[in-house]
Amino acid sequence: MTLENDLWFNPNKCFINGRWIQSQSGKTLPMVDPSTGETICEIARGNAADIDAAVNAATDALIGEWGQKTAAERGRILTALGQKILTKVDELARLEALDVGKPLKQARADVLALARYMEFYGGAADKLHGDTIPYLDGYTVYTLREPHGITGHIVPWNYPMQIIGRSVGAALAAGNAAVLKPAEEACLTALAFADLARQVGLPEGALNVVPGLGAEAGAALTAHAGIHHVSFTGSVATGSLVQASAARHTVPVTLELGGKSPQLVFDDADIDAALPFLVNAGIQNAGQTCSASSRILVQRGVYDHVVNQMAKCYQNLRVGPALNDLDVGPLISARQQQLVSSFLDQGQDLEVAAKGVIEKDVPNGGFYIQPTLFTNVPATHALARDEIFGPVQVVIPFDDEAEALAIANGTDYGLVASIWSRDGARQMRLARSIKSGQVFINNYGAGGGAELPFGGSGKSGHGREKGFEALYGFTKLKTVAAYHG
Ligand code: NAD
Repeated sequence: MTLENDLWFNPNKCFINGRWIQSQSGKTLPMVDPSTGETICEIARGNAADIDAAVNAATDALIGEWGQKTAAERGRILTALGQKILTKVDELARLEALDVGKPLKQARADVLALARYMEFYGGAADKLHGDTIPYLDGYTVYTLREPHGITGHIVPWNYPMQIIGRSVGAALAAGNAAVLKPAEEACLTALAFADLARQVGLPEGALNVVPGLGAEAGAALTAHAGIHHVSFTGSVATGSLVQASAARHTVPVTLELGGKSPQLVFDDADIDAALPFLVNAGIQNAGQTCSASSRILVQRGVYDHVVNQMAKCYQNLRVGPALNDLDVGPLISARQQQLVSSFLDQGQDLEVAAKGVIEKDVPNGGFYIQPTLFTNVPATHALARDEIFGPVQVVIPFDDEAEALAIANGTDYGLVASIWSRDGARQMRLARSIKSGQVFINNYGAGGGAELPFGGSGKSGHGREKGFEALYGFTKLKTVAAYHG
């Protein structure tokens, strides 16, 4: 199956200065459908020369039409883009499902999230302002929030639309011009997004998209002297390289990295309410979610009950092609499949409570893996400490609150955590002491709202995206102190 005839934009070109342009490398890369292992189209293999052209286009945009837009005008364009996206929900969801391998209903939720980010940041653009600061007699002091200038955005393959929405949306709202390098494994919706932005009148050069390999186009973007801020979402290893590269030009970096996010289930919890969250947070997008909850910590009084209930859910999980819209799709690539398999091998001596079921007729070339629930896992085991990035969860028993906290904080990560308990004092104590960028009480994820600042501590990264925090991150603050006597 090839996709090219179905698309309304050019999948094998770069989007630079409002136009579709062949990569100066003259090369392309295959885009593989993870559900079948087949190539569905070719994308441009962007290189340093393309990045250079994109940065030049962004520079011109800031001097020209885009830089002269008022905040309200920028907001209107983003709002219109959100509305345009809502007219393309089915096409974009199908594209994301084919490209990433995620079941259609999950891809559809991502399209709606992308539209919501445009709506949120469209509405916020003209509400971002500085402060006046009371100071010495004879002074008036105020602050201005100014865009960095040109922002670089490096995005992974697992949630392209959501991550583009929260990062590019906020950067444009704040008045920056953006250069986006989507992931080589899944970049079709990034290109579709750029074309929809063009259709609603985003000025030339305000957004440029250069697909390609991380070590080529990505590295060229972070090393470019014309970039003023880098937003990176991806692995810890690449994030460190990105930060080191940007440091050469003392460019600020936001890093959204991995996680090993725990859910803490206490004896007094409403287990029926918790159950769908306990499982879904681990298997959504086949576990390839930075905020996946891959550790379930359960107090001994309800341990057997929770394990039995989770095991029943796992036995009912059906795995198959993205367009079949089952519970779990394939992993993104053969490489990811091998990586997750090697974790399953490391768990050979552990208790397995249940596994999901791969449909009998899945295509041979697809990258499927059986969702697996390990129980009674020691907190020090590799499966309980390392990010797996697959549909694998470990259940760890604990005796009391102090032990639960020690286990929760016992990894290098700190992205998301949740507390399931009816005890208000415990909720408040733990919400303060858990090392995590987000803490949820009696839920997990709170629907992922655009309003909710998101980011990590430790190896989960630094800086915040989403909400107004992202707008602050995509601006620099200037203090003006006027002496008038
Ligand atoms: P990755 O780091 O390999 O790739 C991410 C992006 O970086 C891709 O666009 C890639 O092309 C680019 N890249 C690779 N090498 C580069 C280099 N040298 N210079 C510049 N760019 C380069 O990560 P991945 O395997 O694609 O994604 C999985 C990881 O991302 C997981 O660890 C996951 O937890 C993390 N992640 C985090 C979040 C978050 O919001 N915290 C979201 C999604 C994924």
